[in-house]
Amino acid sequence: MSISPQSFNHGAIEVICGPMFSGKTEELIRRVKRAQIAKQRVQIFKPAIDVRYDKTKVVSHSSQAIHSEPVEKATDILLKLKDTTRIVAIDEVQFFDMEIIKVVTKLANRGYRVICAGLDLDYRAIPFGPMPQLLAAADNVQKIQAICTVCGAPATRSQRLSDCSDTVLLGEKDSYDARCRAHYFYEPEDEQMRLPVAEEIEHLAN
Ligand code: ADP
Ligand code: MG
Repeated sequence: MSISPQSFNHGAIEVICGPMFSGKTEELIRRVKRAQIAKQRVQIFKPAIDVRYDKTKVVSHSSQAIHSEPVEKATDILLKLKDTTRIVAIDEVQFFDMEIIKVVTKLANRGYRVICAGLDLDYRAIPFGPMPQLLAAADNVQKIQAICTVCGAPATRSQRLSDCSDTVLLGEKDSYDARCRAHYFYEPEDEQMRLPVAEEIEHLAN
């Protein structure tokens, strides 16, 4: 039996991850623009919670912007899909609940190229929400680094500069810094707050 390349379905999950300021949104926008040059229809989604720069745009720290559709929950992505869409891009994917894994898997299995960008770790350096499962389910992963604001080394951590203890604190340069492992610190006021990693992941998943 001969293999015809046309018979393959090219669905795939791509994940771009790293700390804040590492260029995840820039990379997502770059991939989307290349797809648009190739005349492939793309829909871009972001969680409605992320209103830092703009309600309906995905905006990078270097002020690149692209139109997006804010959604309240992961399953809304399926409801908003248009017939002509071939590529689905999702920014700030770490803010979605665990349903996002089912949604992106369903899309990839149906032949869509799904490009996700999100924080791998939260400000405590604990895996962020659905990211561990998403990274495991992905066909392709790009982990990128920012620049440590203390020493200029590659940075893999997001340093929270305020003492707020909510996992989600929307903010920018005044609230967060990119840091390398040596210059990152996290000292919970209450040691009880520092759950073992496995317990913490379970806690975040519920
Ligand atoms: P992310 O989506 O990962 O938060 P963005 O794509 O929005 O990142 O922004 C990346 C841009 O942020 C860089 O190209 C650079 O212009 C800017 N930037 C600001 N601070 C830093 C830093 N500490 N390290 C790297 N880039 C930074
Ligand atoms: Mg971003």
